[in-house]
Order: sequence, then C-alpha cells, then structure tokens
Amino acid sequence: MEIKKGIAVSPGISIAKSLIIDAEDYRIPQRSISPSQRMIEVQRIRNAFRAAVEELTGLQAGEDAIKRREIMDIFAVHLRFLRDRSLRKRITDYIQSESVTAEYAVATILRDIASHFARVKDAYISERAADIYDVEKRLLRQLLGYKREDIEHLTEQVVIVARQLSPTQAAALNTEFVKGLATDAGGRTSHTAIVARSLGIPAVVALEDLTEIAGGGDTVIIDGNRGIVIVNPDTETIEQYRQYSQEFAALEHRLYSLKDKPAVTRDGVEISLLGNIEFPDEVKLVLDKGGEGIGLYRTEFLYLNSSSEPTEDDHYQAYAETLKSFKDRPVIIRTMDLGADKYTQSQRLAPEPNPFLGLRSIRFCLQNLTMFKTQLRAILRASVLGKLKLMFPLITNVQELMQAKMILRDVMEDLDDESISYDRQIEVGIMIETPSAALTASTLARDADFFSIGTNDLTQYTLAVDRGNELVSTLYSPVDPAVLRLMRTVIQDAHRAQVDTAVCGEMASEAEYIMLILGMGVRTLSLAPPMIPEIKQIIRSVTIAQCNKVARKVLSMNSERQISAYLRDATRKIIPEAF
Ligand code: PEP
Ligand code: MG
Repeated sequence: MEIKKGIAVSPGISIAKSLIIDAEDYRIPQRSISPSQRMIEVQRIRNAFRAAVEELTGLQAGEDAIKRREIMDIFAVHLRFLRDRSLRKRITDYIQSESVTAEYAVATILRDIASHFARVKDAYISERAADIYDVEKRLLRQLLGYKREDIEHLTEQVVIVARQLSPTQAAALNTEFVKGLATDAGGRTSHTAIVARSLGIPAVVALEDLTEIAGGGDTVIIDGNRGIVIVNPDTETIEQYRQYSQEFAALEHRLYSLKDKPAVTRDGVEISLLGNIEFPDEVKLVLDKGGEGIGLYRTEFLYLNSSSEPTEDDHYQAYAETLKSFKDRPVIIRTMDLGADKYTQSQRLAPEPNPFLGLRSIRFCLQNLTMFKTQLRAILRASVLGKLKLMFPLITNVQELMQAKMILRDVMEDLDDESISYDRQIEVGIMIETPSAALTASTLARDADFFSIGTNDLTQYTLAVDRGNELVSTLYSPVDPAVLRLMRTVIQDAHRAQVDTAVCGEMASEAEYIMLILGMGVRTLSLAPPMIPEIKQIIRSVTIAQCNKVARKVLSMNSERQISAYLRDATRKIIPEAF
C-alpha cells in the first residue's frame, strides 16, 4: 500500500481500478526497460512500421479513399513519413540510448518532431505537425494493439491516473465510467481541476510521481476531500474508506434538502448563487443543486470538445439550450477564453513560449475577428430567448473593452441590416482577472454593466504563480494580502459606480472564504454546481454583521498564513460540519 498526498481539487471518494493515461489519451503501459530488452523493443518498432505501412496501403486502395482525392493525398504524406528510414533510426536509437519501451520512444520522438514543425512560420510546414500526430497514433495503435484503450471508450469503472490531463481530455471524460482522477501535475485552479469539479468527479492533483508508482489495473482510492491517493490499499483501509464514503454521501444528502431554500443570511440578506458551466448539459446539475442561474459559461469548451471550429449555429444551439432552462434568470455567457492552456485546433500546433502572458482570451479574439464575430452573432441571436448577459474575459485596459464593444456594435449593425432581432439592452460586463484591471476598476466601471472577479487568474497574475504548476502551488492563494487588497479596490470602486460585482473564481466555492467575500461586500457568487449546496448552507448559517467583522479583521492582517488560519477557525466555529 502506498499513500500519496496531493492537492484536493474535487470532493468525494472513489475506489476503483486505475487506468494510466499518457498524453493524447493513449495508455503507455510502461516507460523503462532493462538493457537486455532493448532489441525486442527495436524489433517491435520495425514490425509496427511495417504493419502501419501495410494498413495505410490497404486503406489507400479502398473504395472510399479512391473517391476522395484529398484523403489519398494525406495518406501519401503519412506513407512518406512511415517509409523514412531516418525517422525509424531516430526512434530505435532512442530506445537503445535511453532503455525505454517502443511506445514511449514513438510518442516522445514524434511529438518532438511535431512541435518543431509547428513552430515553423510557413503555414504549409506548420500544418504538417497534425500529420505527424496522426502517424504517431497509427504507430501506437500497432504497438498497443488490443491493449490500447482510450478514455472515450471505457467499458468498466476506473479511476484515471495521468501525468497531466489537458482541459480537452478532461472535457471528454465519461462520468459513467470515470469515477476519479489523479494527476502528477496540476494546481487547484487548473482547468482540468475545474472540469473535474464541474463533472463531480473526485480528483486530486500535484501528486508528483504517482504515475510511476501506480500500475494499470491497481486498486486506487482517491480521496478528493483530503487530497490523498492510496495505491493498492489493504483491506482495512478499503473498509475505512467505504464507511467514510457512506458518511460523505449522507452529508451530501442532507445538504440536498437545501435545494429549494433561499440563499439568504440569518439577518435576511439575499445572496445570488449561480453556477459555472462549461457545457450546456451541466444546466441540469445547476438546477438540481439549487443554482439560480449561470454566472459563468466558459464557452471556449465548445472549441475544446470538437475537432473542428464550431459554426455560428453550433454556438447558437449551445446558448439556446442553456437559456431555455432559465427563462427570466440570468445566464452570463463569457466570450471564448482561448489560449494559455485552452487551445483552438490551430493554436495547439503552434505553442507560444509564454502562453499565459500571450495571445490569450480577449486578445486572441481581437486578433481573430471572424471567429469573434461568429460567436458574438450567435450570442446576440440567442439574447432574445432569456436573460442573457455577455461578459468579456481578461480585460486588461479600457482600450480593449472599447474595442470589444465596438466589434459588438458592428455585429449588432450587421444583424440590423439582416432584420435579425436581438436584445438591444443586453448587459455587457467584464471579468476582473488582472492587477491592471483591478487597479483601473473605477475607469472600467464607466463602460461595463457589471464586474465578475476571476480570482483564479487574478491570483495567478498578482502573485506571479502559475495556477496549474504543482511546483509553486504552495505560493498560490487567493487570500494573499496582495490579492485581497486588489479585490477590495475593485469592490469599492464598483460600489461607488453602482456596478454589480460577483466573484466567479474557485474561491467562491471554498467554505472558508465565503464569510470574507460576503464581508467585503459581494452579493453574487458563481461556482462549480456540485459545491452550491455547501456554500448555501454557509450563507444560511451566518449574519452579514459576522462577515463584516471577519473581513475587517482579515484586511488588517499582513500574512497569508495568518489569514488562512483565521478564516478556517472562524468558519469552523460557525459550521463545524463544513470541515
Ligand atoms: C478565473 O480566472 O477566476 C475564472 C473564473 O476564469 P477561468 O478559471 O476560466 O480562467
Ligand atoms: Mg480566468
């Protein structure tokens, strides 16, 4: 039995057999081999290349392919790669020098080549990166044969163990079979963690070397409440966890009874509790958990979940489906927040050196107007179906906001010309996610109908700590005095300008931060749907006077540690069961 401690990112307990997933959904069963096995692996490479060539030649001769010239051309390119002796030599040399399996060598070498292709400025060459990835998959299929499994085609319950899972991979998880998630890498607010939480899959990240400890098929316990993963637990531990899991389910059931009760403090102040979603079908969960609307729809997942760019109609259908469940209640659609760790199909092939500071989010939209306008048209068309509000992410200065609004006006004019109706009074808000936006909130407030504080990014950019990097995760805290001072500035400036301010980062789903947020004057929270009942219980257990006192005290403190400890104590006193 091996016990590993990481960061708990999605609550719940799961016990199941593990499925080890390497990048690109392929399960690479083993990395290292003993030197005596190297020749066997080299032979496996030869066989895999031969079989892949035969497979492709067969496909090329197939009836369908003959009808479709483009496919023939693609296959011809792939065949050239597969017949390239220097490529095969590079892979076999790697096996010899590093003593690794054939699968590992193929994945490493081909991904390395693909990323070099992708960086070439010439579009024709950079697009070849996609072909290399295809060749890699074809070879892996040959090598892994029937052992190959991908996370979209599971037939039994598993917990996924991976070095890292991209938001795209996480978005494709099938909750019927995936019962837990544990990764070596990642942070509390990495997008993979956010998706796991939204899907209600217990998850622990930042486990460092779990993939080296756990083997495929091992029994694994994932304790998403305490951030613990146990590989091959003994029977006593399994029994303890089964009991703990039942207690947790009973607590969840008790919280469920709050579903139709209002989120109102003991002294009668109403708080608006909204859900964060990535996909329209999460609306059911928001309603089931007692959410009153959508405070953040992360629309970029429309791109991540598909192999091609979504059309205007794809956007429209997704928004219409979301709105139909909420009628007169708010649905805030955030325009696509692509870049950083969430790529479009073409971005994925040309990684930036510093993507979180690069062409991300609204910056990407302002440089890709056709794509941006397509989404804005769909949002405006859907705006007549309910109380839709539009929100721009990662605004860092007023010019960006003015530019984004100008483009919105252009799209409105286009719709006018085509006599297509939309809500002319649509509210347009912004996310406050950067120190620059926080410090200029009073200026931005003149042109924004509402603010939503994205504490995940605000923390990352204020403290210069990558939100998804486990190596610096102890430095990442939304209650660092620097972050709190910026939040206070935003809330006060917004209040003066009579602009509503919500908090929609993961901070709003953490029990110990709720009194502080309310005490700072925020009355709208948007959070992962599974967390809504617990947060509602806290709201219903406190008075605003208590919260104000907590906030005053916290804002007078200078150390994150002191603040965290104080908040935990203050919350525990009021609702011990939250812990
Ligand atoms: C945030 O940054 O806090 C936020 C809510 O946006 P995202 O997590 O999608 O970056
Ligand atoms: Mg953000």
